[in-house]
Amino acid sequence: MISRADLMNAFDAVSLYIERHTSLVCPSCKNICCINKHGNYDDSDEIFIRALGLGSLEQLYDRMDTEPCRYLQSSGCSLPRYRRPFRCTWYFCEGLLSSMQDDPPREYRAFIRNLENLRLLRQEILNPPVV
Ligand code: SF4
Ligand code: SF4
Repeated sequence: MISRADLMNAFDAVSLYIERHTSLVCPSCKNICCINKHGNYDDSDEIFIRALGLGSLEQLYDRMDTEPCRYLQSSGCSLPRYRRPFRCTWYFCEGLLSSMQDDPPREYRAFIRNLENLRLLRQEILNPPVV
């Protein structure tokens, strides 16, 4: 059984690393990826959020898909990572990926392991093993 603490630790492990790199590359980005269409949950996000005991974010249709995401603020995303659509955690643009790959290989590999760990935990919550 996955505890909430395990999951939060897994999110923290990837967040620290991702945010170190977004803080380097995003401020000068000319094609910001945080557009409104990416801020909406898909079906698996909805299931995951309910499994965490959280209410779903209100889906509002008051702006175009291509407008800035409603959760984007000047300091970045205003949602804690576990509350974001999961695509916001696994999507890496070319610039971000390149910044990460400039890290010492050991650090980059550790991040990939942490990301895979998070993916597997989330997968287990979405598809709990039948006992
Ligand atoms: S993740 Fe990449 S595309 Fe998105 S805002 Fe940052 S630099 Fe731009
Ligand atoms: S990271 Fe946050 S601001 Fe960016 S698309 Fe996802 S929810 Fe929106």
